Amino acid sequence: MTKARYTPHDMLARLIAFDTTSRDGNIPLIEFVEDYLEDWGIKSLRVDYEAGKKTNLYATIGPDMAGGIVLSGHTDVVPVDGQPWSSDPFQMVEKDGKFYGRGACDMKGFLATALALVPEFKAASLKTPIHLALSCDEEVGCIGVRPLVAYMKKHLPRPKAVIVGEPTLMKVVNAHKGAHTFATEVLGHEAHSSCTHLGVNAILVAGELLSEIGRIAADMRERGDPSGRFNPPYTSVHVGLIEGGTAKNIIPRRCAFKWETRLLPGSDPDEVPARFDRFARSLEPAMKRIAADTGITTDCTNKVPGLRPQPDSPAEHLALHLAEANGTEAVSYCTEAGLFQEIGIPSIICGPGSIEQAHKADEFIAISEMAKCEAFMRRLIRHCVN
Ligand SMILES: [Zn+2]
Repeated sequence: MTKARYTPHDMLARLIAFDTTSRDGNIPLIEFVEDYLEDWGIKSLRVDYEAGKKTNLYATIGPDMAGGIVLSGHTDVVPVDGQPWSSDPFQMVEKDGKFYGRGACDMKGFLATALALVPEFKAASLKTPIHLALSCDEEVGCIGVRPLVAYMKKHLPRPKAVIVGEPTLMKVVNAHKGAHTFATEVLGHEAHSSCTHLGVNAILVAGELLSEIGRIAADMRERGDPSGRFNPPYTSVHVGLIEGGTAKNIIPRRCAFKWETRLLPGSDPDEVPARFDRFARSLEPAMKRIAADTGITTDCTNKVPGLRPQPDSPAEHLALHLAEANGTEAVSYCTEAGLFQEIGIPSIICGPGSIEQAHKADEFIAISEMAKCEAFMRRLIRHCVN
């Protein structure tokens, strides 16, 4: 039987054709990759996030030992709902030196290049293993990869470096912010709108909390970013969603809002929520004097760790060498790299395409970026045979 061979171009078309919108899962794509790897005699392992629907895949090419290089990417994509695409987002189109399709740059271009080179990885006598780590549910808060990260920590030989192929135009990125998200609920006390003295207006209490968030945000902005690498140059705080109330003439019993902070790496993750919480506690006595069952609760709904720069790490050295770059950059978006770093594996971000095209209608990757990524992977092979 002949083994299937793909150019990075063909492989990208194949991967884009799987609609892997986060909410719908990624099993058909993973099955395709499993079969392809098996054809080439490479065993892979699944670590489920949601059994039967969303899974992560880990495969090793070369010796089964510690010290390998992980090529890591998420397989899920953001929805195309409501976006004005010029062509079918799940049918790759080549035009003007670009490949168009959902996930072209974020981040099937990187995965397609790595997968297309698997036969070359396999044919080389690798002394250092190359691992593939394909994840799910990254676009909804870097949550899907977590069981894989936990599994790697517990059961697998520790790799030397993780290269996360998010789109950086093949620049080497060694730092990004973390993101912590919160859901706050204010429970007040209902009354007729004429009887303001008998009710606790949950919307007005929420308003005070929002003002405090505004003050915290202003203070963080004032404090700035000592590293001078981030845009915006401070830890930011943001409120994204609010709901509350029933009718104009009812004092609202409930108001809830969702907010987040994007932290400079290395900053104290508890500072912002602790200050918010102190302020919330200070509002409660007046609420409880009117009705005992009133109060304010805040839950942390997700924590994505930032990526701390590790300037002398093997990941950074290697990526600079493979990308033929002489400096590193920082980005403001989150990736899975901080999660790998958290379990002690030096991690770096470097991948083809631009984040500018990610998540938009007519997402594309320049063919020249795919070529740069291919050259990067070929240098990786040379690195791993020595
Ligand atoms: Zn991405």
